[in-house]
Amino acid sequence: MTAKTTAEPTARLVEVFSAIQGEGLNVGTRQIFIRFAFCDLRCHFCDSAHTWNAPASCRIERSPGLRDFESHPNPVPLTTLIEWVERQNLPCLHDSISLTGGEPLLHAPFLQEFLPKVRSLTGLPIYLETGGHRPEQLATILPYLDSVGMDLKLPSVSGESHWQAHSQFLQLCHSQSETFVKIIISHRTDLAELERAALLVADVSPEIPVFLQPVTPLAESDQFSQTPALAPAPADVLTWQTSMKRFLKYVRVVPQTHKMLNQL
Ligand code: SF4
Repeated sequence: MTAKTTAEPTARLVEVFSAIQGEGLNVGTRQIFIRFAFCDLRCHFCDSAHTWNAPASCRIERSPGLRDFESHPNPVPLTTLIEWVERQNLPCLHDSISLTGGEPLLHAPFLQEFLPKVRSLTGLPIYLETGGHRPEQLATILPYLDSVGMDLKLPSVSGESHWQAHSQFLQLCHSQSETFVKIIISHRTDLAELERAALLVADVSPEIPVFLQPVTPLAESDQFSQTPALAPAPADVLTWQTSMKRFLKYVRVVPQTHKMLNQL
């Protein structure tokens, strides 16, 4: 009788590298970024459109922060990714591991296997960046997450509408991990939608930090949408923050700082 073998889980990746987090609650901290391929949304402002489909190969930084990338074919076996993360994990350097994309939750079955191993091997907290629209997948990996940065997509800005899923998602992750909400704002932001977003968050907890992130306009060569998002007017940003603070304790306006620092 032959022994039953179980295939090793694999994931399709875009890149693995060490960098400074430029957004949200973890801004300024050093993270090992694992950028997963695939996204099922098509936000007008997306600065990661190259992740929507899986590339034949991914790029892996050999030494943390040195940008000495090497190429590796996709998909990547779990043990190989663990080795790459351990190689990045120099003593005292990183604050956490960032799961980003694309939409990392499209890889939930892989993450269920990967996260407990990488957490126990590195001792680093796990941070998930997500579009915030897949509560079922979130539930399967929530026990392994330490913090979640959840996007709340305004239809007027992103072209995506996921109110009910966002609400379920936020209930779930707020109950079990440190959570903040990120909302991209642009010249097209609809105040009524922002207030709806504020109420949605306040309904879960008015203490959840919300980050209003003015869109970083895409370079002309990177634009893919017929309706590219432009930066909001300064006076509007003040009005929007004022309005949201009627419902929420923490509403901070923070642009993408990694782009100011010319980081990845
Ligand atoms: S969810 Fe993120 S990766 Fe996906 S299209 Fe929107 S901005 Fe891009």
